[in-house]
Amino acid sequence: MALSDDLRDLYQQVILDHSKSPRNHGQLTGDCVHVHGDNPTCGDEIDMYVRFDADGGIADIKFDGQGCAISQASASMMTVKIKGATRDKASALLQDFRSVVTGEGSVQDEDALGELQLLEGVQKFPQRVKCAMLGWRALEQAMQQEKTSGDA
Ligand code: ZN
Repeated sequence: MALSDDLRDLYQQVILDHSKSPRNHGQLTGDCVHVHGDNPTCGDEIDMYVRFDADGGIADIKFDGQGCAISQASASMMTVKIKGATRDKASALLQDFRSVVTGEGSVQDEDALGELQLLEGVQKFPQRVKCAMLGWRALEQAMQQEKTSGDA
């Protein structure tokens, strides 16, 4: 899918903005799930901190890391969308975002994704897909850990 020039400009602005001033950047202290993810082929690293509410929703989320602009911007954009989301909504966003960047499957809720759809340009570049998915895979792992740890 070819991006129009306007969309390409917007894509670059959004990536640059989020990679230069990442949102929800830092660490959570106290009761939270911490997942480290890396993408050795590109040198990206992400530390994701997620605090779940009693129903498994995302009460708070922060990330720390270093790497290419796409990995950091994608993680930053994710935290903005995912913070405060119910578990179901977080899972739906995760699936939809994966569809956007891999081109596989169909997107269920374009409105919910919003500017995250700008990352569809990475589809053509398998290495970049890994960069874009890094923070999301960390979130997925955190959600799995939260589920298996039960409500102790
Ligand atoms: Zn990368």
